[in-house]
Amino acid sequence: MKPRPRSGVDLHTHTTASDGLLGPTALVELAGFRGVRTIAVTDHDSTEGVAEATRTGLSLGVEVIAGVELCARHADQDVHILAYHVDACSPAWQQALLQHRRRREDRAARIVETLANLGVPVGMDLVRQQAGAGAIGRPHIARALVAAGHARSSSEAFARWLGRDKEAFFSVASLSAEETVSLVGDLGGVAAIAHPAGLFDLDDLVARLASLGLGGMECYYSHYRAGVTSALVALARRHRLVATGGSDFHGEEVHGPRQLGGVYVPPDVPAELRARVRRGYTGADPRP
Ligand code: AMP
Ligand code: ZN
Ligand code: FE
Ligand code: FE
Repeated sequence: MKPRPRSGVDLHTHTTASDGLLGPTALVELAGFRGVRTIAVTDHDSTEGVAEATRTGLSLGVEVIAGVELCARHADQDVHILAYHVDACSPAWQQALLQHRRRREDRAARIVETLANLGVPVGMDLVRQQAGAGAIGRPHIARALVAAGHARSSSEAFARWLGRDKEAFFSVASLSAEETVSLVGDLGGVAAIAHPAGLFDLDDLVARLASLGLGGMECYYSHYRAGVTSALVALARRHRLVATGGSDFHGEEVHGPRQLGGVYVPPDVPAELRARVRRGYTGADPRP
């Protein structure tokens, strides 16, 4: 199959408000430069980058959708949930995000302690320096390990200590996937499962979450082969979910290179998400 053209839509991006390398303005400028007309800013547990991105977008003609990426629990796995169009001014939303960020702080300290026990000491101040004002995550610890001379690259730090099943890995999830989807729906946003390929028992997970108001699933994603995407789109259709997509751009390599706007996403997806918000029920399309 021929690769599809890019569509100028990217609904999964990170900024310095979490573990991305570009600030919100630089991200939107890059989008404008690359001809990406619509982006969702989906930082981990934070909406801090959204206002600045929106302002820059207004001046450059780039539409910015408010988003967040949350890490949730399901059985023994972490499931990432994208939340679109939740009102950033909602106190309940900001309270929930603040709690998630506090958990990130505690978990970072735990990782740092474990790394010291493993003989790769890295100061919490150095980690904080990498994170700046952003929600702290494993990539900041990986960059600190590189800065401290323990690893040559972030990828190496993940491969040796920070990746899932490595000794210094701790999950950041606090809520279950069900609780997360319900929270997002209650606040009027659209919840979508992020990068679902490889999740254990995905059909069952989707069925459960769809019954709780899941509205979308990320079917178009960096490095997904056409066959993976088409199987995911079929699953999304069966549950009447919006088949969303994005690059998961961080401004650096994360599991291989990813480019802003580098993934084909059907151009009508932003309008489909908006339509769900407008009708007031953001979950799966009701059956006729
Ligand atoms: P956290 O939310 O703190 O658990 O960190 C998750 C983030 O770590 C992801 O969004 C990626 O940015 C990054 N990440 C996860 N796995 C890897 C990996 N193997 N190599 C590089 N970055 C990774
Ligand atoms: Zn990330
Ligand atoms: Fe993710
Ligand atoms: Fe992400």
